[in-house]
Amino acid sequence: MFFCVIIFKNMMKFSSQRGTRDILPVDMPYWHGLEAVCRRLFRLYNYHEIKTPIFESTELFARSIGESSDIVSKEMYTFKDKGDRSITLRPEATAPVVRAAMQNNLIENDKVTKLYYIGPMFRYERPQAGRYRQFYQAGVEVFGSKDPALDAEIILLSEQIMNRLGLKDLEVNLNSVGCSECRPEYLKNLKDFFTSNIKSMCEDCNNRLEVNTLRILDCKNKQCQEYINNASIIEDYLCENCRNQLEQVKVYLDKFSIKYKTVNRLVRGLDYYTGTTFEIVSGKLGAQNAVCGGGRYDNLVAEFGGKPTPAVGFAIGMDRVVEILKQNTEHGKQNTDHRRKMLYVVTLGDKGREKGIDLLFQIRKRGYEADIDYVGKSLKSQMKDADRQNVKYVLIVGEDEVKSGKAILKNLATSEQKEISFDDVLTLIL
Ligand code: AMP
Repeated sequence: MFFCVIIFKNMMKFSSQRGTRDILPVDMPYWHGLEAVCRRLFRLYNYHEIKTPIFESTELFARSIGESSDIVSKEMYTFKDKGDRSITLRPEATAPVVRAAMQNNLIENDKVTKLYYIGPMFRYERPQAGRYRQFYQAGVEVFGSKDPALDAEIILLSEQIMNRLGLKDLEVNLNSVGCSECRPEYLKNLKDFFTSNIKSMCEDCNNRLEVNTLRILDCKNKQCQEYINNASIIEDYLCENCRNQLEQVKVYLDKFSIKYKTVNRLVRGLDYYTGTTFEIVSGKLGAQNAVCGGGRYDNLVAEFGGKPTPAVGFAIGMDRVVEILKQNTEHGKQNTDHRRKMLYVVTLGDKGREKGIDLLFQIRKRGYEADIDYVGKSLKSQMKDADRQNVKYVLIVGEDEVKSGKAILKNLATSEQKEISFDDVLTLIL
């Protein structure tokens, strides 16, 4: 067997692209569990699912995320299609959801529109643990209200999802990035400050100084950190509206007993954010420790040509959440009866097989998961296969069983077994 695998691997001509990976059946329970919890809680808060295309016009992202952002300037998968249109694989879903909501008239006056999405995103980033070129996000977008209760609602929602999944060691970081009224003044001060120190800072910071000064605050370089720590903080520049908004969000979070930390240096990599921004970070991951990020983007609908409409949203990084779920399972927090509620039909002899297939199809028709061997394995190998597939029940049907009209039902979790008439198989196990 080992030998066969080697030969097969050597013959293999293709492998997945750098920064992408196959999500294998063994990991699917984590993905399905995460998706199910997201969907349940999104519905609990009255969000409705939307699916947008994987690709959009390049301009949609350039206009919203910002030409000078890392995403647009370095990380997009952009190509010309056969009609000479510039197309980009979506690096995030906010801009597409805004476009879709506007195009399909989902945003109306005096109405709050709550949408959610789950799907793959694409960014040409340097791959490392927790950072991929194709990754998955589950997120929400709300249009039509500036109420700080809504900012608090989405933070509460993302927290509740993490809680429901059993994730611990999480921290909510909160900030405001100001608005078009107060941010320019802060940016001017920041730029003046960094200009006088820029010679001692890293190449990335040098590049960001002119095009995206705010993002210098994101730099992890030790030497740059010293300057960053001495730079002024946005809190001192917020206008009354932004200040009140942030304060009221905090009041709601306190009311809901959500622990958070005000992080004045928290800026997000996307230009469309205004006011409240937040991130949830995990102590269980390495450098890429953010599992959720979001905030307000009150100008985007207007920038896309619609009526000014306040909006707020977040995106959960599903790959990173799955990583933590897997760690939790490895640390023994798994349910002890982890066997799948499924039946494996094991047969012996031609008559046994004929009856076994008959029962198999009937069992499935009744809505119970079931399978059988299709390569003529021995009884022992069929039993091994059932065990390997982690099924809970095995139904053994041989020539003797056909004669007596009774099969043997074995519970692999407890090793108990009993005789059961063919008629009862269909009623008893369900
Ligand atoms: P963003 O859209 O940049 O605000 O990211 C929201 C969340 O998506 C982050 O907190 C991460 O959990 C996740 N995320 C972003 N980029 C990647 C990536 N390249 N690989 C895996 N997860 C990512």
